[in-house]
Amino acid sequence: MNNAPGLVVTGASGRMGQTLIRLASGSDRLRLVGCVERAGHAWIGRDVGEAMGGAPVGVVVTDDPLEAFAKAQAVIDFTSPDATVAFAALAAQARAVHVIGTTGLEAGHLARIAAAARHAVIVRAGNMSLGVNLLVRLTQKVAQALEADWDIEIVEAHHRMKVDAPSGTALMLGEAAAMGRGVALEAARVSGRDGITGARAHGSIGFSAIRGGDIVGEHDVIFAGAGERLILRHVATDRSIFARGALRAALWGQGQKPGEYDMMDVLGL
Ligand code: NAD
Repeated sequence: MNNAPGLVVTGASGRMGQTLIRLASGSDRLRLVGCVERAGHAWIGRDVGEAMGGAPVGVVVTDDPLEAFAKAQAVIDFTSPDATVAFAALAAQARAVHVIGTTGLEAGHLARIAAAARHAVIVRAGNMSLGVNLLVRLTQKVAQALEADWDIEIVEAHHRMKVDAPSGTALMLGEAAAMGRGVALEAARVSGRDGITGARAHGSIGFSAIRGGDIVGEHDVIFAGAGERLILRHVATDRSIFARGALRAALWGQGQKPGEYDMMDVLGL
């Protein structure tokens, strides 16, 4: 048995959960020691490898996060906002690094995550991929370089099952654009225009969301000026980019001081 940090994956049967389990099972830097699903789920009590339609991996899916986290040095969590807030308190109690990929978190959720981060390491990012985190930095720099008469629009596309909009990534990009421009996103944000909207408000940052099929995730940041347009684009074609970022964050978090971190910290950007 190697002494790599023990990892628990929550939301084990989800799109991201299964991608994480596949990658973690083949890793020699982290050891998969637990898988959590919601109470009543058909996978509870089954070996997670078999539940995924493959060979057994020796980890049984549980609905008891506290018991699972007690064996772990890291928890990777791509679930739902209410579940994530509950996991943050339990992971802090177990002193496990909590990597949060869940999006759609609101102010109340964020306050409870900040409270948990007083006692444990939390790494949270609306997007865990290297490419998107570079895009965030580029967006901030371009917004800083251009005058406010360049209109900023963020267009994102995701699969038909996604429940929140704009995406967590689109909001990260909006925050970066607002920061580059020296304004607050909440004051500048305009989402989903429809009907007689009137002319575009000067200095606003617009968001549009497309939902369909199995699109993994696409984001365009459009800077539209008079006579020219600059478009920064990221296209995700495989969920493993998020899972690899999350596994990297779980390792990076080992030995860090308690607090809330993001992928910029992990990637050294
Ligand atoms: P999904 O619906 O396929 O999976 C979510 C899983 O969480 C489900 O299996 C569900 O049963 C489980 N779950 C819900 N409540 C639970 C609870 N209380 N206990 C245990 N398990 C619970 O969704 P997905 O596509 O895997 O995405 C999950 C989240 O991750 C979403 O918020 C999505 O926006 C986000 N996401 C973030 C990134 C990133 O890089 N940060 C990338 C992709 C997806």
